Amino acid sequence: MAARTASPFWSLTTVNTSSSCARILPAPDQLTLAFWTGGEHGRLLIQRCGSCQHCQHPPSARCPQCGANQLVPVTMSGLGTVATYTVNHQAWRPGLSVPYSVAIVELDEQPGLRLTTNIVGCDPQAVYIGQRVRVQFEQQEDVWIPLFTPEKGASRP
Ligand SMILES: [Zn+2]
Repeated sequence: MAARTASPFWSLTTVNTSSSCARILPAPDQLTLAFWTGGEHGRLLIQRCGSCQHCQHPPSARCPQCGANQLVPVTMSGLGTVATYTVNHQAWRPGLSVPYSVAIVELDEQPGLRLTTNIVGCDPQAVYIGQRVRVQFEQQEDVWIPLFTPEKGASRP
């Protein structure tokens, strides 16, 4: 069994995109379970406020916009844009395959709705700000980690 962390959203910065041995897995709780398991059915689930419709990530007990506690997971399109990224060349953990890209992707559904992830399925050096990407999921034990891959047909501006 892989190590688990109590800080699930930091774990995506220490990953191996081609092999599972180095990834620190999250320990989903009531708030984060939908996010980490939606990929089982191919769905990127992000909280949306039932009162003001604001989408929230990372998951929270209350809406940061209106304070309501009516946040429910809803399915996103899975499409987004690379807001920023870095390429890691340091093997911080045994078994970590480098280089790999760590990116912040902004989802199409809402300006500023961002998550930290990896861009996979391409040369890490080919990742760029503004790149159109689509979610895919990597199952590790009982979690489905949202990763992103370049959108087919998209060309670099
Ligand atoms: Zn709200």
